[in-house]
Amino acid sequence: MANSRRQAPNPYVFFGLFVLSSGLFYLVAKRTTHNTFLSSQANPKNLLSPQQPAFDKDKITVIYVLGGPGVGKGTQCSKLVEKFEFCHLSAGDLLRAEQDREGSQFGDLIKTCILEGTIVPMEVTIKLLENAMRAELARRNTGAWSDGKGRFLIDGFPRQMDQAQEFDKTVCPATHVIFYTAPEDVMVARLLERGKTSGRADDNVESIKKRLATYHDKTMPVVQYYELSNKVSKVRHL
Ligand code: UDP
Ligand code: MG
Repeated sequence: MANSRRQAPNPYVFFGLFVLSSGLFYLVAKRTTHNTFLSSQANPKNLLSPQQPAFDKDKITVIYVLGGPGVGKGTQCSKLVEKFEFCHLSAGDLLRAEQDREGSQFGDLIKTCILEGTIVPMEVTIKLLENAMRAELARRNTGAWSDGKGRFLIDGFPRQMDQAQEFDKTVCPATHVIFYTAPEDVMVARLLERGKTSGRADDNVESIKKRLATYHDKTMPVVQYYELSNKVSKVRHL
């Protein structure tokens, strides 16, 4: 009799365990749901709809101007601006201006990237381009001319695939790409010639080699990507 009582399962123990595990499950579940909700709350756009570009693509025309270093993107853009009503924004010029801006937290980072021919983190470049576009639109769209329209030649950007996708998604999708090409020895000769007077830290043999490597490895895939959707006009600039 005493033996059978010892072996009999105690219903209170089971009940206790059940209450304890239910309580734990509830706490874990509540914590998980709370965190998920908080993170979607922190970025409500993610919860409600996919991110919208900052500019309306029906009003804003964006043309990327790509090509190797020294191919003549800047020179050609100036000619296009003269002939057609475009605003020319050079990503490299915007970065150099930010580098020189007193108090910029990105100055040193930009300086190193330019010297090494590497690519500045895209958040910096995309923000600079977006700000410059806003400034141009504000300047242009005043009084009777406020139709909200604008046309931009974006020179030297996007330099790698993730930049292209991020800009298209968050700022404005590009309508077209102008891609300038020239033999490499021509580009190098131009850069070295320019280096005599440009004052640019990267117009020297060492930096040019690195810039060319970045162009082949990182920028060419961008051109190939847009070629797939027939958005590229290739121009030989000898
Ligand atoms: N750069 C960058 N992101 C850009 C454009 C330029 O990081 O979107 C940096 C990069 O280090 C590049 C340098 O700025 O080598 C100079 O760019 P620029 O377009 O002025 O010169 P390019 O080499 O095309 O003649
Ligand atoms: Mg340039």
